[in-house]
Order: sequence, then structure tokens, then C-alpha cells
Amino acid sequence: MYEVYAIKYAHHARRAAENFLGGLPQDEHDGPMPLDYFVWLVRGGGREIVVDTGFSAAMAAKRRREHIRCPSAGLALLGCEAAAVKDVVVTHLHYDHIGNFELFPQAEFHLQDQEMRYATGRHMGEPVFRGAYELEDVVGMVRRVYAGRVRFHDGDAEIAPGVWLHLIGGHTMGLQVARVATRRGWVVLASDASHFYANMEQLRPFPILYNAGDMVQGYRRLRALADSPAHIIPGHDPLVMQRYPAPAKDLEGIAVRLD
Ligand SMILES: [Zn+2]
Repeated sequence: MYEVYAIKYAHHARRAAENFLGGLPQDEHDGPMPLDYFVWLVRGGGREIVVDTGFSAAMAAKRRREHIRCPSAGLALLGCEAAAVKDVVVTHLHYDHIGNFELFPQAEFHLQDQEMRYATGRHMGEPVFRGAYELEDVVGMVRRVYAGRVRFHDGDAEIAPGVWLHLIGGHTMGLQVARVATRRGWVVLASDASHFYANMEQLRPFPILYNAGDMVQGYRRLRALADSPAHIIPGHDPLVMQRYPAPAKDLEGIAVRLD
């Protein structure tokens, strides 16, 4: 049984029409629908597993995102020291999920074969597919491959008792989600398999995608993997901060407990 936390580290204002492939239907009113940015901590049985590593203040400035704090500082508020973490799950290699990897010098990085193939292969020649990748992040991960610090997975993998990774694809070729055994059942950290609750509930893809079919099938897969729809944690929805409680009074607005 693991404790699971979402730690918010950044924010970005945008409109609802930007969050759905093809925009909104004509009868639907457009309005603000901002993104929050998270990293996740899985803790239990003497293990600490970090899911994604976020982006730095410098990257936030470059990409015009509102940076709240370094994700490692957020982890520290929960008593997790980034420099000592042994396992980092990389859901995918987009800049908002794999920046800051150098802050985890002891970690082995868990990555899907298909994600490295995508991030270093033919599709990165096309701006439409490479826009959310940062070359230096990808090159940094290649360096870690050569240093023996990347553990590749091909589909489903149990990386610790009760912690599973599942290849979903869709948003990128190799996007994976993490499924964790908790006191309330199987919780699925969906990351960008569903940016918002609305994407999976309405089966309407987010517009950054590699394969629309895999993305929509992925929404169904999330439901099959989790104990209920309320056990699925979307990757960027500010509602996560409202639907779950802070682990302590002084962490309100900073982190929530998902288990
Ligand atoms: Zn993302």
C-alpha cells in the first residue's frame, strides 16, 4: 500500500478551445481553462518513486509558463530528497515531464522503448510532433542510456510490488501511465494520457497528439486499469488540487494526497 501525492509546480492560463482537438462545438461557450503542472510522489515499503521531473524556471521563462517552485523543492516539502531518489518514472519525454532530470543523480529512469524511438526518430523532423520536446532533454536522456541509468520497458511492467507501468501511447508514441496499489484501491497516474478530466470523460483528445485512435482507446484503458473513474488522476487538471486534500495544513495549494 503506497501513499501517492500530486505536487503542483507551475501553471499556465489558456482557453478551453485550446484543450480539445478541433476546438469546441459551436454551441459551447469558450472560456478560461488553465493547466496546472505536476510531479507525483509514490511512497511506501521503504521506497520513494518519483513520477516525472517537471521543468525549471529557465524553461518556464522560455515557454512563458508561470513557474511556482522547482519540483525538487516541492518534493522536499514532503520530505523527499531528489538527490537520493532511486527510481524516476518518465511518463514521456515532453519538456514539462523530463526537465530537471539532473537533480536526480542517483536515479534510474523508467522509460518505454517506444518513447525513445519516437523522440529520436523520423517524426522529430516534423515541427508538429517535436514542439513539446526539448532537444537538450532528449540528448540528456540519451547520455543516461549510455551511463546505464535508463531502464527500458516494452508495454506493461511491475517496477516494485504494486507499482505498474502501462504503455498507452496516443499523446506520444511511448506515453506510459503508472498504476499504484493504495489503501483505496488501484490509483492510476494518467499523466498526459488525459490532460483534463474532460478529455477522458468526453472522449475528446487534447490537440497535441501522435495517434488519435490510441489516445481515445487510452481513455478506455485508463478506466479498465483504475478501480473507478475517481481513481484516475489527469496530468494537468487544476481540479485535482480541489478534489483531493492537502497532506498537511502548510501544504495547502502546494500538494494533495491521492490515496
Ligand atoms: Zn504534459
